[in-house]
Amino acid sequence: MIKLKDVTKTYKMGGEIIYALKNVNLKIGKGEFVSIMGPSGSGKSTMLNIIGCLDKPTEGEVYIDNIKTNDLDDDELTKIRRDKIGFVFQQFNLIPLLTALENVELPLIFKYRNSMSEEERRERALKCLKMAELEERFANHKPNQLSGGQQQRVAIARALANDPPIILADEPTGALDSKTGERIMQLLKKLNEEDKKTVVVVTHDINVARFGERIIYLKDGEIEKEEKLRGFDD
Ligand code: ADP
Ligand code: ADP
Repeated sequence: MIKLKDVTKTYKMGGEIIYALKNVNLKIGKGEFVSIMGPSGSGKSTMLNIIGCLDKPTEGEVYIDNIKTNDLDDDELTKIRRDKIGFVFQQFNLIPLLTALENVELPLIFKYRNSMSEEERRERALKCLKMAELEERFANHKPNQLSGGQQQRVAIARALANDPPIILADEPTGALDSKTGERIMQLLKKLNEEDKKTVVVVTHDINVARFGERIIYLKDGEIEKEEKLRGFDD
């Protein structure tokens, strides 16, 4: 489902070259739940952004669903992102002027323009809010009327809107207290187990990483080790 082959990402800072990722090889199977751990600056976000086609590697190959993405142009990458990937962020990144429901409808508007009716769009957004276990009575609340955990549920519902096979989450519990963070991780686990989403979570919190079937440890842009927590066969 996801494959990185000899992926290197460098940044030029003044005259210096910084290796954000160095020769990374990684395969993530369809339906797998993988956590990426490592200290600040170890390359976690860079790796997630490359998997998510938000960023391109300097060298190496990236495959999403057997599509080689590293030489696609920006329009093609946008399409892959829209069809294959749902993103969840630490700070939720909801639009404050829109209600929960409208935030979830947004990706459907971008994808379907006028080919999906308003009723259909609303129904689908409500279904996604339900999948993210947000109580329906909050659907018309604006983000600032919701708790952090509820806002992250809206963000997860938005990530589900286009029914992508892959959910990528960058520190999804980083802005939440530990109890709320645990509930959000349980939700991601449910989406993995019941809805068969492939889930990749970046975190520096081992208690969060433990929700995965496998933990990849990054250090200075390299995979330092991998830990298998539960069986995954593909
Ligand atoms: P993490 O997510 O583990 O904190 P990052 O992937 O954000 O790590 O960063 C890895 C390395 O790449 C760090 O040394 C960081 O400073 C560097 N880096 C990341 N993004 C940029 C950028 N846009 N320009 C320059 N250096 C960057
Ligand atoms: P029903 O079970 O009522 O027949 P469907 O499974 O056909 O509903 O889904 C209805 C809509 O919800 C579809 O347009 C589909 O894309 C969307 N949907 C279904 N499952 C998911 C999912 N796991 N994530 C996001 N959207 C979904």
